[in-house]
Amino acid sequence: MKSKLEIYNELYEEASELMKQYDPCGIKDGKCVRGRFCCDGCRYLSPTGCTTKALVCRIWLCEKAKSKAPEELLLKLEDISTRLWQYDIKQERGGMKDIFK
Ligand code: SF4
Ligand code: SF4
Repeated sequence: MKSKLEIYNELYEEASELMKQYDPCGIKDGKCVRGRFCCDGCRYLSPTGCTTKALVCRIWLCEKAKSKAPEELLLKLEDISTRLWQYDIKQERGGMKDIFK
């Protein structure tokens, strides 16, 4: 049987692939479609980007990104969220240390 950590890692990879494939945030020239990144002020943000595997951040979209995303992507992200609940894995913004503490 897979551990929660293994499941988390698998779902993280799945979510990362979806973000690459659909690119709902449309990041270009240091800006996303909302104009201001949702990571601002997060303790895991470094000058080179996120320093942790934040699955909930991978499946969360702001209203602007949601309004531009295809329904198919939203359903796939919702499915990942449902599986997190099914496996009783905490859904919190932040890193793995917060999830598995
Ligand atoms: S979710 Fe919204 S605010 Fe965050 S990076 Fe994507 S477009 Fe920008
Ligand atoms: S943990 Fe989430 S909000 Fe924080 S830097 Fe990483 S992706 Fe952004």
